[in-house]
Formats: sequence, structure tokens, C-alpha cells
Amino acid sequence: MAELTVNENMIASVHYTGTLPENGEVFDSSEGRDPLSFLVGHKQMIPGFEEEIMGAKVGERREFTLTSDRAYGDRDNEAVMEIPREQFKQLEEEATLEVGMQLVAQMPHGPSPFTITSLTDETVTADFNHALAGQSLTFSVEVVELREASEEELSHGHAHGPDGHHDH
Ligand code: ZN
Repeated sequence: MAELTVNENMIASVHYTGTLPENGEVFDSSEGRDPLSFLVGHKQMIPGFEEEIMGAKVGERREFTLTSDRAYGDRDNEAVMEIPREQFKQLEEEATLEVGMQLVAQMPHGPSPFTITSLTDETVTADFNHALAGQSLTFSVEVVELREASEEELSHGHAHGPDGHHDH
């Protein structure tokens, strides 16, 4: 049997650490957790992450830096909005609003996370850009397991449990 490598329609399980290239700060890591499993080629991951591990075998480790266009995209100034502070009235009964606070807005298309970037008595400035938008990101990735996706996973477009069966 040919040795499996990372390819479209496979379930890849990886350990990874993501750092910011300018200062080495770790923004995300699977260390101390289960490896991350995903269906390759179905937009579960940022584009550059998949491209850079294509063809890797189990046990192989790769390190790469992605520019923002291959990661979380550029910042969009239109995704920064001023919201009347009175809309936060209910929340402010339980919590104190602060710059840098991350909240989730319930939008018609689903929950949308945002960060408060400034506050006045009348308005809350909400930045809906991904916190890592506009940033280059460095990843160190080790492939720990590979298998063919099940029919069910392919039709759902995401990875299931270890045997490919439904667990959600
Ligand atoms: Zn599913």
C-alpha cells in the first residue's frame, strides 16, 4: 500500500503552534490538547495552512510563514462600526464595557465576534475584523495521523470522530 500523504478529501490530524513572526508570540497552539482534525480541501482551514502541508507524510513537520492574504485576509475598514451605547444597556447591568473586550453579536446569519476598539458615553466602536486579519502568521505543524474521509464526512464537508462516524 502506498504511503498516505496530505491530500484533498483526506482527514488530517495535526499538532500545530502558530506564532506572530515579528515577536514570536504564540497566538494558538494544540499543545496539551488533542490534535486538530480537519477535512482537507473543504475550506475548514485558512488557505495557506492547507497548501503548505500538502504532500506531507505522517510524522513530518513543516514550518512556514503565511502573509495575511493566505491567512485571515486584510483588515476591512467597513467591518468597523459605531453602535449606539444604549444597545448595550442590558449587558452593562452585568458587565463593565472596556476597550479590548471581545463580545459576540447575534446577527441574522449567525453569531459574529467583535472587539471593542473605543468607547464614549454615546457609542461603542465594534471591530468585526478577525483579530488576526492583516497579520503574517508563522506555523509549525506536525502531521500525526492521516486517513481517507468517509462518505458521510465528504457530504458534510467536515471531519467527524476517529472512525468517520457522526459524533455531533
Ligand atoms: Zn457532520
